[in-house]
Formats: sequence, structure tokens, C-alpha cells
Amino acid sequence: MLPAFFDSVLALIVKTSTDLPPDVRAAMRGAMAAEEPSTPSARALTIIAENIDQAATDEGAICQDTGMPTFEVHVPRGSDQLWMRQQIREAVAKATALGKLRPNSVDSITGMNSGDNLGPGTPVIHFDQWEHDEIEVKLLLKGGGCENMNIQYSLPTELQGLGRADRTLEGVRKCILHAVWNAQGKGCAPGAVGVCVGGDRTSGYMHAKEQLFRTLDDVNPDERLAKLEAEIMGTVNSLGIGTMGFGGNVSLIGCKVGVLNRLPASFFVSVAYDCWAFRRLGVRISARDGSITRWLYRDPSNPTIPMIDQEGFVRTGREVQLSAPLDEAVVRSLKVGDLVLVSGRMFTGRDAVHAHLMKHEPPVDLRGAVLYHCGPVVKKEGDGWKVTAAGPTTSIREEPYQAEILRKYGVRAVIGKGGMGPKTLKGLEECGAVYLNAIGGAAQFYARCIERTDGVSLTEFGTPEAMWHLWVRDFPVVVTMDAHGNSLHKDLEAESAKKLEPLARVDSR
Ligand code: SF4
Repeated sequence: MLPAFFDSVLALIVKTSTDLPPDVRAAMRGAMAAEEPSTPSARALTIIAENIDQAATDEGAICQDTGMPTFEVHVPRGSDQLWMRQQIREAVAKATALGKLRPNSVDSITGMNSGDNLGPGTPVIHFDQWEHDEIEVKLLLKGGGCENMNIQYSLPTELQGLGRADRTLEGVRKCILHAVWNAQGKGCAPGAVGVCVGGDRTSGYMHAKEQLFRTLDDVNPDERLAKLEAEIMGTVNSLGIGTMGFGGNVSLIGCKVGVLNRLPASFFVSVAYDCWAFRRLGVRISARDGSITRWLYRDPSNPTIPMIDQEGFVRTGREVQLSAPLDEAVVRSLKVGDLVLVSGRMFTGRDAVHAHLMKHEPPVDLRGAVLYHCGPVVKKEGDGWKVTAAGPTTSIREEPYQAEILRKYGVRAVIGKGGMGPKTLKGLEECGAVYLNAIGGAAQFYARCIERTDGVSLTEFGTPEAMWHLWVRDFPVVVTMDAHGNSLHKDLEAESAKKLEPLARVDSR
């Protein structure tokens, strides 16, 4: 057996969850340099950069959604894959117990969280043999917000703003542009896409995700695909989606395209969208004792350069201070674009809580309350709890419920990310409430705005889905949907759709 194998895999998981690889850091530095100072995107990037540094320094999860752990393992001939699989599963459970991974494995029928990230299909572990005498383990942690933005096209097809996409590389180019436009800020832009041209519906998605194991700065060995990747990167940012969909100069930090043969009748283009919190690392492991012989994607002998070389997020003095519970007149005075610092009590609530509130009275008084779409990472400390990672989750999933919850219970502010749809916008107007966009993935930054956690309800839904009672101070957010019928998300989606049109070309290839 390999006595150090378990520790090596555990070290890989912890590092992947807490420290972004150098190529992603470099791309995010590039994004920061490309945005005009003081714009919403620039301010969001400052919070993101601060968050990246905080996570690495304190070994905390970069984002509270530590995603679906996906391992790609290469082993020499004769390796005991059953034993390794078990060791990897135990390392995942240990990392979860240490608070480096959020419990994310949920029974799809009962909704019960297994609590340790183990269950049918989780974690994902793919084994392959190779000719080398070392073991290679690569890990991708990709969260639900960006996973939900994956998309698969069957060509030929008609695409909004881009016209017909044929079974050609030009058609593939249109699909990639459409996928980035479709994601807007919901997948925590600026993101990166892994793409597969061809394959079947299953292998296409798998191969698309495998592209995310390439570094952002590599060059595709296939010249045709290298050209396509360069073309996408050269044009996609003109869509103006920007960080979190706030509008800006950088919408994508990477495009990696692979190709598989297909059936004559099928032509799929599969796109795996990853967020800025692009957590991917790997290790080479000795087949003699299981110890790490070298890291992939990072060189531990090179010191990590902090993302922020000055003060991080600083107040401009123009922020509106809000203190919960909120007064209707104050909330109605807010407008899209206002920067807000929230203090006081807020309650978390995401999918299970929203479904529950449609049929049951809330366990707390929600009049004037701030409802935070968030599934935090929480550690038990003595008789209490400590929230160690607490960024927003994608709000659009609550669109079927949100307006009714505003009307029924008097919630005055909803905090989340990516924006919500027309039903919620109407509900905000009717009820005198606002939608406040927090910076997706900034889990460490927001955890530091939480002064204490003084209760929790609905624990039967599991840690991420329970209703946590948080006391926060100066929690920075942006009004992106107000009580006057205005929505930054609606406007930006329409504007960026118009920008797709000049990128459409007559398909001649
Ligand atoms: S950064 Fe955003 S999309 Fe990515 S895992 Fe975190 S919440 Fe999900």
C-alpha cells in the first residue's frame, strides 16, 4: 500500500479549494487592469482579489460552493484502483469535516444532504492507466452556479442575435459566443469555457469539462482550434457583460476547445462554463509510497504574489448605509446602481427554504427582513457556530417563489447574485423591496462581514440549505433591481444581445 497517498490527496483538495492556480490569478490580474477604476466591475474585482488573498492566507474556501469534486487519475499498470478510490473518498470526507469543502452531496429524491460529500455519483472519480510509473491526480472544483450555465447545442440551430449556426467551425464560434452571452453574470463572470465539438451528448459534456484542466495560457496544438480560441478571446469581451454581469470590459478569461468524432446524424457543441473561482490543481504521486513528488499548475518554490498590492475594498463615501430590519420608505428611495452597506440581522435562504415558505409559515419574523441567497460553510464552535465562507448563490433559481414570499411575509431586501426575472421585479415594485447583488464567490470577504451567528432554523435541510441567522456589519452590495421597476440585469441582457449582432457572420466555412 501507499502510506502517504491519503495525505497527498487531502493536501491536493485543501490547496485546490483555498488557493487559485497562477494562470487563473494572472488572468484575473489582467481583468483588473482592463476595467476602468471605480466602475462596478472594477470594484467587484477588487473584492474578488481581496477574497483570493484572504482564502490563500487563512486556508479558507475561496468560494462557499466548493462544487462537485471531480478527480482525473492516471495510474501505472498494476495499480489497485479500488483501494485508491476508497482513499480519495475518505480524503473528501476528511476535507469536508475540516470545513475545506462544503457538504454538497444531496439525495436527489429526498433532498437529504449526506453531510460528507459522499453519495452515489459524488465525488466524480475517473481512472485511466498510462505508461508512466507515477500516479497523477488532478482535481477540479466547479460550483453549481457555473455548472448550471453549461449548455449543449445541436447544430444546425438558430441562435438569438447570431442567426443560423451551421455544422462548421463558424457555427461552433457562434455557439460559444451565445453560451457566454447566455451566462451573463449568473455563473460569476468573468468565467472560462471548456468546449467540445462533437462526441455524443454524454461524451461531449465530459470532454468539454476536461478542457478545463488545460491552463488558461496554453496554446491548442490543433491549429484550427487555436485559431478559434484566439478569435473568441479577441471578440467576446465586446459583449460588455463584465464582472458579475455589472457591465465592463472583461467577460471571459479563457476559451479551451477540444474535438471528438461524432455520429453522422449528430453535431453537438458542448460548453462547460467555469467561474472566476476556477479551482483546478494536480499532483504527481510516487507509486512507491504515495507521497507528492511534484505539484501541477503551481510551483511551491515560487512565492504566491498577492492579488492586492494596496488597500483592498475602500469606501467611497457615497455608499448608502442600511440597517435591518428595513423601513419601506428607505428601501423605496434606493435606485439601481446605488452602493449599499448592510448592517444588522439577515437570514439565509435558498432553494429548500423558498420551497418550504410557499407552504409553511417562516420560523422567524421576516417583516422588514433581509433575505440572503447563500449556502454558507459553517463550523461548530463550542455551543455556537462560525461561518467560514459565505458568498451569494445564484438567485434566478428562486424566481418561481420570490415574489410570493415578498408579498406574504414582508421581506424588504433580497441579496444574491446574477439577478432575478420579471415576476420578482414586479413583486419588488408592488411590495417596496429591492434586490441587492453581492459579489459571487467572495466567500471569505463576506464571512469577515459577519459579526456573529445567533441561530439557525430548518436544519433538517442540511447546512447549506438551512436558514442561518447572521449579524452583519457593512456588508457591501449593489442595488441591481429596485422598487421602481428597474433592473440592471434586464437592461444589460438586452444591450449585450444587440452586441451579438455585429459578431454574427455569414457562414462561409
Ligand atoms: S464563484 Fe460563483 S459560480 Fe463559482 S462556485 Fe462560487 S458561487 Fe458558484
